Amino acid sequence: MVEIKTDTSVDAMREAGRVVARALTAVREKAAVGVTLRELDEVARGVLREAGATSPFLHYHPNWAPIPFPAVICASVNDAIVHGIPTDYRLRDGDLVSIDCGAKLNGWVGDSAVSFTVGRAREQDTHLIATARAALEAGMAAAVVGNRIGDIAHAVGTVCRSAGYGIPDGFAGHGVGRTMHEGPDVPNEGRPGRGMKLRHGMVLAIEPMLIAGGGDEYRHAADGWTLATTDGSRAAHVEHTVAVTNGGPRVLTML
Ligand code: MG
Ligand code: MG
Repeated sequence: MVEIKTDTSVDAMREAGRVVARALTAVREKAAVGVTLRELDEVARGVLREAGATSPFLHYHPNWAPIPFPAVICASVNDAIVHGIPTDYRLRDGDLVSIDCGAKLNGWVGDSAVSFTVGRAREQDTHLIATARAALEAGMAAAVVGNRIGDIAHAVGTVCRSAGYGIPDGFAGHGVGRTMHEGPDVPNEGRPGRGMKLRHGMVLAIEPMLIAGGGDEYRHAADGWTLATTDGSRAAHVEHTVAVTNGGPRVLTML
């Protein structure tokens, strides 16, 4: 089901999104060589708590997962694409980290992700992350009234493919509202002019996932949650929650 939000609801979602942005900013400031992923999760928990927000990630238990998700962020390092569990792993020089975070405030959800490097960045990682951001920007720019879901998918996919990167099969963005995952699916690749028409009041999470090696395959790591590349190459993941409005795309998960 696709829920069309009122302008008042979108304003409320903006506040939830702001909490997510604050959490991701704090996590990024904390991230450094030697810091554990669990410590990053603690930072995000603190921001959510202070804002009076809850986590849509914590205890989330889709039917394919062996255990409920135990944290408020996903922390996916290097060859991990998404859904990494924050462990006692200590960040190392040159690591590529993707952090996904959600917040629920006054009944509304925000969902966003960032990728960055720690310590001395490898040039190819910087390029991968820059391309992921460019794909997100292109996708958001296509989130306008009268366009279709396929236009967003096509915009995202074109940036990724032009740079020679892979796109994990079967993972997509989604509608966001009172729950984290709603209709419609927002694929990271698709045909322009196809799919559902975008209307004022639709709220979408657009989230490019890029695999440096160029293939689209992924595997589930031993923890049952983490999706990792099969070729061992690195991956990046960035995401914003965006409202489609008559005034153009409105990014809800910025500071
Ligand atoms: Mg997310
Ligand atoms: Mg999402």
